[in-house]
Amino acid sequence: MLTAQRNSADLQQVQKDQRGIATDVEKWKAVAGRDEAKDGLFVFAVRSTGIYCKPSCPARHPSLEQVIFFSQPDAAERSGFRACKRCQPQEARPSARAQLIQKTCRYIEANLDEKLTLEILSRQAGLSPFHFQRTFKRILGISPRQYVEARRLEKVKRSLTNGETVTKSLYNAGFTSKSRLYEKTPPHFGVSPGIFRRGGEGLRIHYTIVDSRIGRVLLAATQRGACAVCMGASEEAVEAALKEDYYAADLHRDDEGMKKWTEALLSYFDGQEFPRDLPLDVQATAFQWRVWKEIQSIPYGQTETYSDIAASLGTPQATRAVARACATNPVAIVIPCHRVVGKDGSLRGYAWGVERKKTLLSLENKVQRT
Ligand SMILES: [Zn+2]
Repeated sequence: MLTAQRNSADLQQVQKDQRGIATDVEKWKAVAGRDEAKDGLFVFAVRSTGIYCKPSCPARHPSLEQVIFFSQPDAAERSGFRACKRCQPQEARPSARAQLIQKTCRYIEANLDEKLTLEILSRQAGLSPFHFQRTFKRILGISPRQYVEARRLEKVKRSLTNGETVTKSLYNAGFTSKSRLYEKTPPHFGVSPGIFRRGGEGLRIHYTIVDSRIGRVLLAATQRGACAVCMGASEEAVEAALKEDYYAADLHRDDEGMKKWTEALLSYFDGQEFPRDLPLDVQATAFQWRVWKEIQSIPYGQTETYSDIAASLGTPQATRAVARACATNPVAIVIPCHRVVGKDGSLRGYAWGVERKKTLLSLENKVQRT
């Protein structure tokens, strides 16, 4: 259930935004840094004031949840927002450099199934490869190669969602083979294309269930790595929870084959850190990945606040988004999101119930003290 929702939300985000800057998080970063290079590329509107601004507006920043991004001033006006008198966003035009990069992005979008090397792209833009690479990175925050790979992967996701086969989707998006996709895709752009298929269709998933202090814990994995952790009072409950996300997958209980995972879980409940080197097969936005990586660095028995995490990612205003990334963590314990707490130390939401979060923390605490 969560997986499907996440996918379609990510997809909408990408489809809405063909103009360059990849995500709302990138845009928010530009606003937080009052980045003039991003002026003319998008505007942001504030729900509470009804006003929209360009990224570099010197006015005080609203909180992220008050903000809606629009690619153009017109669109903000049509939605009933008025232009800020201070920064005059309707006058903002992309710099010549930004326009050039936008043009290159349109070229990339139209030629995803062609060869798109740095040489070819810089020739298109009329710059030296070195200068092109640097300019591109300054405007969009990622390298041309990362941009091309991300666009190709989006195309694969789109066509899988439309019911195309994996092979055909990959081919149409300019990937010459499956292994090439796996090799070339940076992990934070999401991995296994199979998982994007509805309900895990075509995926073979093995799982094991252990009994623990917090009830039954189910850990499921594809051949590539752990893909789900579910908690519940009974075996039926945890199996039902797995089926909700992976109703179309081929599910097999395999305690024997999952031994290394079972042992990792049992030793976790016995006071050991869950091994960090076991592979994962979860898909996520770049932001979710960064949050989850950060969470994995919180030592056993310690906690950090949502705002600590937001701050260490360089996006102090993104506390809410951090909380959302915790709530959508598909592999509890493996990514120990229970170690993230509210500013006052309060145990805010946990996908598997606040009581379980409390128990996990007190268990880790006790081990630490003895
Ligand atoms: Zn303004």
